[in-house]
Parts: sequence; C-alpha cells; structure tokens
Amino acid sequence: MNEINKHIETKAIRTQIERTQFLEHSNPLYLTSSYVFEDAEDMRASFAEEKERNIYSRFTNPNTSEFVDKICLLEGAESGYAFATGMSAVFSTFAALLDSGDHIVSAQSVFGSTHTLFTKYLPKWNITTSYFKVNEVDTIENLIQPNTKILYAESPTNPAVDILDLELLGKIAKKHNLLLVIDNCFATPYLQNPIQFGADLVIHSATKLIDGQGRVLGGVTVGRADLIREIYLFSRNTGPALSPFNAWILSKSLETLAVRVDRHCENALKVAEFLEEHKNINLVKYPFLKSHPQYEIAKKQMKQGGNIVAFEIKGGVEAGRKFLNAIQLCSLSANLGDTRTIVTHPASTTHSKLSKEDRLEVSITDGLVRVSVGLEHIDDIINDLKQALQ
Ligand SMILES: *Cc1c(COP(=O)(O)O)cnc(C)c1O
Repeated sequence: MNEINKHIETKAIRTQIERTQFLEHSNPLYLTSSYVFEDAEDMRASFAEEKERNIYSRFTNPNTSEFVDKICLLEGAESGYAFATGMSAVFSTFAALLDSGDHIVSAQSVFGSTHTLFTKYLPKWNITTSYFKVNEVDTIENLIQPNTKILYAESPTNPAVDILDLELLGKIAKKHNLLLVIDNCFATPYLQNPIQFGADLVIHSATKLIDGQGRVLGGVTVGRADLIREIYLFSRNTGPALSPFNAWILSKSLETLAVRVDRHCENALKVAEFLEEHKNINLVKYPFLKSHPQYEIAKKQMKQGGNIVAFEIKGGVEAGRKFLNAIQLCSLSANLGDTRTIVTHPASTTHSKLSKEDRLEVSITDGLVRVSVGLEHIDDIINDLKQALQ
C-alpha cells in the first residue's frame, strides 16, 4: 500500500478509514459527544490511555482524527491536533509550550490577531516577543536571548506576500536550540512543507484554502509527537476542539485540495502577469514572478506561488478606495482562499489602526491592494480588475 499511496493527491483521498457495519465508501459524520465502554475494566484502561480509543469528543472524534491524519500525511508530520479556528491553534500552541518568562522571536509581518496575541495577551503571563523584519533575516540571531524558546514566522506573509527562507530559519533554530513554528496557511500543505526545512511544528488556519469554499472555520497544529502531546493535553483540558461536523467538511475538502490549489495558482499567476503590464500600477508582488525580491527562495521551497497577489496602485489611499468601489465581480471581504476572488485594501481597512510608519514597517503602502484569486474563469477576473483600474 505504501508503495502505491505515495503522492500527496492520493494520500489526501486514500486515508485509511475504519468502516462501520454499513461498509461506507466515504467516511460518515460522527455527531456524538461521547462514547461508551464495554465494562469497568475497559473504562479504566481507556482513561489510563492503555488503549487508543475515543472517550469524549473534546479529546478525539473519528472525524477530527481523520482530518488530523490527512494533514499529518500531507505535511510529513508525526502527530497533530485539530482546533475550532486557526487562532485557537496559534494560541493553544503557545499556551501549551511556553512558561512565564519565556521569549519569542517572530517575524514582524504576521497575521493581525497573532500580532495582538504577542503584544497584548502573552505579556500578561510575562511572555515577551522581539520582531525581525522579513527582509532583515540577518538580525534574527541578535534578537535571541537566553530565555528565547520559539522562532515564529509565516511564509508567504500577509498581506505583502513576502517570502522567508525556511531552510535558513531551520538552521538558526537548530543552532540556538529553539522550536521553529511556521504558520503555513498561505501555502497550504500542498505547496510547501516546512518540516522538510527544519520546522518543529506547522500551524494552519483551515478556514482558508483548506476549506476553500468559505464555509467553515477550523485550525490544526502538526509536528513533533512530544510537542503535540503537550498541546493535546492542554487542549483536552481547555476545550478549543474542532467540531466533528467541520472536521468532516474539511476532510472532504482535502480530497480536492490539489486540483483546487493548482487552478488558484494558475489564475493568480495570470492576474500577476496582467497587473505587471498595467500602466496604473507601481508594483506587483507574487512569489512566482521573476520580479519578486525573494523569487529564488520561493522557487526553492514552494511548488507554486499560491493564490495571493499584492499590488500597489498609483495615487495612494484615494486611488485604492476608488479601485475598490469600481469592482463589480470580485467581493470586498476580509477572508481569503475562497472560490470567489476577494479584493482588500489593507491601509483603509484591516491595518487602518496602525500609523503610516507602522504600516510601512510591514510593507503596507497606502496604495497596496491584496487579491485572493479565486476559481472564476480567469478572463472574467481579469476583465473586472481591468475595468476597475480605469
Ligand atoms: C486567517 C489566518 C489565521 C487565523 O485563522 P482563523 O481560522 O480565522 O482563526 C492565522 N494565520 C493566518 C496566516 C491566516 O491567514
């Protein structure tokens, strides 16, 4: 079986499932909060973890286990735990592994709520964070302190689509005995596998391309079994578990991940190439455009460039707003990784509370627009952008 079942497309579809007496072909949905025991001895042994079995759906459930098993296969991970959202995966990972007094070194460009976690909530427990700019990786080692425990980053970054060299981060983490934790949300397990470059843990918001159809929230952390064990024990007691229904949806979504992401990337590259030629545009950033500052690194660590394109309209904030108002087909929404193409203007929306200087620190210029390229026909997507740019 292992010899045949070796490609990511096959692994995402042909995961072993335990069939019931009905011999179902596709894994059924197990909407049950708890499980029964044969007798007192079975109950004792189950709680003592002498056997692997489901006890209560806050701990495990067949649907969440199927989802986690698939992500582990795709990422090359030993073990994992599934969460209600991407943010509960991020929070629980830090909360389970860090002690008061510990320190994090993080890329400056991270997802907004992750940044808020670092600046507002973790300091409550005396956990502090130092930041490096994504284009200044040579400063990382200067930020490491005796109490540094985790090196954290996303690649590609949001919303500026910068790329961090995962192999380099892996080497730095190893040299200084740090845990390397990568939020791999923008790449999906299909395009990039950080464990291969030395990551100890990989986090996903499954809400984005893994669901891919804008339906459910979900998250997952996978990686080294000893670390996942800590994360599992923390989560089993604090309750951020993914619901069986969402897990069932997400497991089905993984079966089509490769074909969907292939088309997302094909469309995104065409959008990037169209924008690069347009006279009202200053700059286009897409990892697989030769003009991207980290093109070589992107090629080394990613299968394709992903579905997010960032570009800068000439004329600053006002031009950005006008462009958004002229959009007809695409959606104005804060989500990404949907079948529907989504356009956002970070300077006037998600990042409007930051000062102009703070925005520039994370490469958000006033005219920056982020497009999450969807699965509509490429000509229709480009025609909408074309008319809105005029
Ligand atoms: C959306 C997102 C998250 C948070 O995921 P939710 O499912 O919305 O909680 C974390 N990291 C990145 C990179 C994201 O894009």
